[in-house]
Amino acid sequence: MPDLYFTPGPTALYFTAEEHIKTALKTGVVNTSHRGQQFKDIYKACADNLKLLMEIPDSFHVLITSSANEAWERIIQNCVRSDSYHISNGPFASRIEKIASQLQKNTHNLKVQDGKVPSLEEIKVPEAAEIITICLNESGTGAAFPLQLIEELRNKYPDKLMAIDGVSALPVVPVDFNSIDTIYFSVQKAFGLPAGLGIWIVNDRCVEKAQKLAAEGVMIGSYHQLPEMVEKAAEYQTLETPNILGIFTLAKVAEDMLTKGILAIRREIDYKAAILNIAVEEHPQMEHFVKEANVRSKTVSVIKTDFENTQLIKYLKEKHIHIGTGYGKYKPEHIRIANFPTHSKEQMEMLVDLITAYRG
Ligand SMILES: *Cc1c(COP(=O)(O)O)cnc(C)c1O
Repeated sequence: MPDLYFTPGPTALYFTAEEHIKTALKTGVVNTSHRGQQFKDIYKACADNLKLLMEIPDSFHVLITSSANEAWERIIQNCVRSDSYHISNGPFASRIEKIASQLQKNTHNLKVQDGKVPSLEEIKVPEAAEIITICLNESGTGAAFPLQLIEELRNKYPDKLMAIDGVSALPVVPVDFNSIDTIYFSVQKAFGLPAGLGIWIVNDRCVEKAQKLAAEGVMIGSYHQLPEMVEKAAEYQTLETPNILGIFTLAKVAEDMLTKGILAIRREIDYKAAILNIAVEEHPQMEHFVKEANVRSKTVSVIKTDFENTQLIKYLKEKHIHIGTGYGKYKPEHIRIANFPTHSKEQMEMLVDLITAYRG
């Protein structure tokens, strides 16, 4: 049996990815100039397919970055003059606040206990804050930020930009783009592609903000300034020589997901999450780290084990199945299991059977 990766990212490749990569090698995709028509067609197909798949309105721009980490820096540089507000409910959610501090912004940080999501009442965004940052799916703790809360925040603070970390959630979580201004993801999580490519989706409010800051003499970056990126993207071009292979493969995988149907993908995710959740609840030595079921991620399960997790990880590895350790300080005490579109129902059933029978 080939190795099966339930790691939260990099994870198993989407089941059609290998075929598309082979096609790219055979048809000169990896040799083509990023200034030629072939590349423009690839970028356009990628943007169009992503827009269809996630119902992204045409008013949003689909930009190419190196990964989500880059989007954090770009968003702060281009959309914040002085004050930013961050909902920090885990290690990934907290990273953008750190970057904003490093870029010498005046950050307002709502520190939330790991594995929790704050209530609307707890979120008090100061007048000065220009942006609210949220992590949709905190891959370190398994907390899922409710879509309804994003909508409520949008209604309560309509003048603030809403910036969402969509890594490990997109395209599974059905985001309403009317409630947000920008969202981004890296491809090695739920899209199941090799790492090294990020997609940054922005609306014109973000672009206008960046233009305004630039006009005031604020430093909005160097080679990747938002207004220039958008200008280039309008012609399906990038400023730098991009990851053409990655963009091609993403375009193709997004097309395959469209063919399968996003609703079918989401139904499968629900089924796999349900059988895994039951297995965890019934296991005498395991519990969910996120206690409240309504804010528990379906795509990244974080499970506390009362035995040495390395034993289970090793046991599964001998069967060619890879799961994640805990993230950061939780490395020894948690396991993390990804449930992405590439993981089939049969594969998840097999993993669930092995976990159910396992005793530490
Ligand atoms: C993995 C991850 C990131 C970081 O992605 P990179 O590709 O390393 O930039 C950011 N946010 C979340 C929620 C993630 O899961």
